[in-house]
Amino acid sequence: MIQEQCATTDKSCQGECKVTAESESPVNPSASDNIFSKIDEARHIWEEHGEQLLSDPGIKSALNDLSHAIEDNWALMRRLKVVDLCGRCATEIEGGGCCGAGIEEWYDSFVLLMNLMMGKEIPQKRLDKTGCLFLGPTGCLLKARFHFCINYLCHRIKDNLTQSELRELAAGNGREIYCGWVLENAIREKLETLQPG
Ligand code: SF4
Repeated sequence: MIQEQCATTDKSCQGECKVTAESESPVNPSASDNIFSKIDEARHIWEEHGEQLLSDPGIKSALNDLSHAIEDNWALMRRLKVVDLCGRCATEIEGGGCCGAGIEEWYDSFVLLMNLMMGKEIPQKRLDKTGCLFLGPTGCLLKARFHFCINYLCHRIKDNLTQSELRELAAGNGREIYCGWVLENAIREKLETLQPG
């Protein structure tokens, strides 16, 4: 069943993204589990195979690329004042902020595992019942994020940026998503050799 209502709290978007939990994760192997079992699964893989994953040269290089892509993308968002805009929207506008409760359910164990590999803890306690599980007092607590969180641009951002800035942002987002995809494939391949059958 398609979920009718978007989980974001950005009501001003008028559902422009048209994204639903199910449509965004059709190939997620653990899509039917709730987020806490996916967090457990990521932790389990990390505890069992973390060292072997981190010592694989292909994974090491893909992890490094993703880490740089994420840092470059945040630097770009700061330069384009997107970070300021999102901060003002979340704190000053009634119903503002788009990190709503339920979005965490779109995450799979691989993205969570990537966070553990980059030294990030996975939050397990929601700060605000209307907010995403991974939302901290000043923004997202994850480093590696699901592609919807990377890509989503509300109309306020679109209205405040030039076409050329939007293209720059799209390129940065695309690079971050691509690096995440490369890393996920490398992890999957390695896990197949560590967990045969
Ligand atoms: S994962 Fe992070 S960016 Fe995505 S909705 Fe949750 S807090 Fe926001």
